[in-house]
Amino acid sequence: MTGAAGRMGQTVCRAVAGEADLTLVAAVDPAAAGRPLSEVVPGISGAAAGVAVLSGVEELEGRGVDVVVDFTRAASALAVLEWCAAHGVHAVSGTTGIGEELERLGALFGAEGAPACVLAPNFSIAAVLSMRFAEIAAAFLPRAEIIELHHDQKRDAPSGTAIETARRIAAARRGAGLLPPVEPTTEEPLPGARGASFEGEVRVHAVRLPGLVAHQEVLFGGPGQSLTIRADSYDRTSFVPGVLAAVRRAPMLRGLTVGLEALLGI
Ligand code: NAD
Repeated sequence: MTGAAGRMGQTVCRAVAGEADLTLVAAVDPAAAGRPLSEVVPGISGAAAGVAVLSGVEELEGRGVDVVVDFTRAASALAVLEWCAAHGVHAVSGTTGIGEELERLGALFGAEGAPACVLAPNFSIAAVLSMRFAEIAAAFLPRAEIIELHHDQKRDAPSGTAIETARRIAAARRGAGLLPPVEPTTEEPLPGARGASFEGEVRVHAVRLPGLVAHQEVLFGGPGQSLTIRADSYDRTSFVPGVLAAVRRAPMLRGLTVGLEALLGI
């Protein structure tokens, strides 16, 4: 695990330590180097609690690691993934912001004899399914709007998931030959009341409130009917089933796999 002391790293360490068929062999995080996981990850159980945190990915050499799970920062994740590719270790990364390096990573992990790499910007199975359902619905219902709702510490708006959902809805609408919707609003006494427009196809509204975690509703409207697709993440454990699925599948994969969709077969 790289990023073991971070919010996602702690969640993944706890989860892996609780799985009978997986072993947490090593943990890396410069912010907690030298400390046992029992001090760094509250509630961690079993042998994993005694694992001492390493300061860099290069210290994983010779420790019998099959799969590295990475939740760090974009700049660090690239170095971690390069190390995995060079050392024949499968990689599963949820770190966001490495989208521009896909071509290079595809070449590294696509080389003859290279290990596999799974990159997923969203490991929540509910979120990934909701995007797929929205994509399907978009071809059949003429109008769609997205409301994404997040905690009040989130810095960016709209969320990456909302932008990706809008992109897929717009593509599905165009693929079905639907014309861009005509915006009915001609007066907006409070500017922004209609939200942001994704390429004139889908309106996106962002809500920021304490108490929320990560939620999204996609609303579709048609004559006399509507459809709402809603996904809720209540805490970081929502990402765990997707991460564990990727860890178990990685040794059977080849090359670079982007998105959980490919692992779910959707
Ligand atoms: P965080 O800041 O809590 O943790 C990041 C950790 O990485 C820190 O402890 C830091 O010390 C450590 N780190 C930095 N460089 C390192 C290196 N070279 N080697 C090892 N560890 C290193 O962040 P977080 O909330 O856990 O999120 C981590 C990443 O995961 C972010 O990019 C976030 O956007 C992403 N994320 C993705 C998903 C998903 O579903 N794909 C879900 C949640 C978060």
